[in-house]
Amino acid sequence: MKVHEYQAKEILNKYGVPIPKGKVAFSPEEAYQIAKDIGGVVVVKSQIHAGGRGKGTFKSGFKGGVKLAKNAEEARDYASKMLGEILVTHQTGPEGKKVEKVYITEASDILKEYYLGIVLDRAKERNVIMASSEGGVEIEKVAAETPEKIFKVWVHPLLGLQKYQIRELGFALGFSGDIFKSFSELLEKLYKAHEESDATLTEINPLITTKEGKVIALDAKMNFDDNALARHQEIASLRDISEEDPLEVEASKHDLNYIRLDGTIGCMVNGAGLAMATMDVITLEGGKPANFLDVGGSATTERVKNAFRILLSDKNVKSVLINIFGGIVRCDVIAEGVLAAAKEIEIKLPVVVRLQGTNSEKGMELLKNSGQNFITAKDLKEAASLAVKAQKGM
Ligand code: ADP
Ligand code: MG
Repeated sequence: MKVHEYQAKEILNKYGVPIPKGKVAFSPEEAYQIAKDIGGVVVVKSQIHAGGRGKGTFKSGFKGGVKLAKNAEEARDYASKMLGEILVTHQTGPEGKKVEKVYITEASDILKEYYLGIVLDRAKERNVIMASSEGGVEIEKVAAETPEKIFKVWVHPLLGLQKYQIRELGFALGFSGDIFKSFSELLEKLYKAHEESDATLTEINPLITTKEGKVIALDAKMNFDDNALARHQEIASLRDISEEDPLEVEASKHDLNYIRLDGTIGCMVNGAGLAMATMDVITLEGGKPANFLDVGGSATTERVKNAFRILLSDKNVKSVLINIFGGIVRCDVIAEGVLAAAKEIEIKLPVVVRLQGTNSEKGMELLKNSGQNFITAKDLKEAASLAVKAQKGM
């Protein structure tokens, strides 16, 4: 689960990580009041679940999702140009994201910008802390072009973050004196916040130093492990559904493992492994999957019906591929679900069906006698090939 910058900063601040003073605003008037209370120069920051806001552009033509405002009047003006508008950044994709709130923070006097991030390294089975003096810019670019500028330490899950590791990173960034001390304290608190809140990613870009010898988190991004949210009610309550794909939200209500992709072939499959294999074979046959969907081992008619409805409501879908291996779930149950959905929604798209395993003949029979025009296939390769060829308007 993702949260907004202002929410991540509230969490980090509870652990004592220094952040600039700030408050979230939902209207230009509120932005004005907050800016007035803070006083002086402030920064108006669009709150969306994506980075790259500073360099982003609004669909209205207004440039910059992060703006420095000289006074409260200017803060109100910027807020009115951001709120309700669609911001496009290199992380949002061309469709962009609607800004529903802005974060008003005091402006910091930046000496230098750094990058600091914590993420799980699955290959090494431990958290990796990454730091770079190339802050404020896209870290993916630094990693690709000048990987030697990213310093890493891996934290042992039982021993925890060690003082020598903090020192290693501090020296690598070229810190000394007060700044070194401030950095060490910040990193210790940041790591504690990451670990205790079951975060999968904590990213501070930029982390800044000031002339007064302070180290401050100027931006913050945190993602959390969905499977751990049950033990973090406070974090779970920060979920902002308006930031999520509506079809994914709908799918999660029905316990479906559904992830929307950018292709054109809607897939309904049981089992995550078979779903991955199906996506691979579609790609090999020259198509592109519109989604990953695992209806699960214990799919009921109702669940299959919902899954099929969600697939068909994706406007990008040009053909549907149903690939089921009947083990725990029976093929006739799947067929019944599809037919139940077909009663409610008119199916205008070609639907290719491959059923194998328990009650597959019975399932195929149901589909054949339904009066609907299903295309049947005997194996996965044939099914994928038919689904690619059957696409309308391609
Ligand atoms: P994003 O990463 O989405 O572009 P950031 O919060 O990193 O958003 O802001 C972009 C840039 O704006 C930062 O790299 C920094 O230079 C500047 N900035 C952000 N917040 C402040 C602040 N409080 N004071 C001064 N400059 C800021
Ligand atoms: Mg940033």
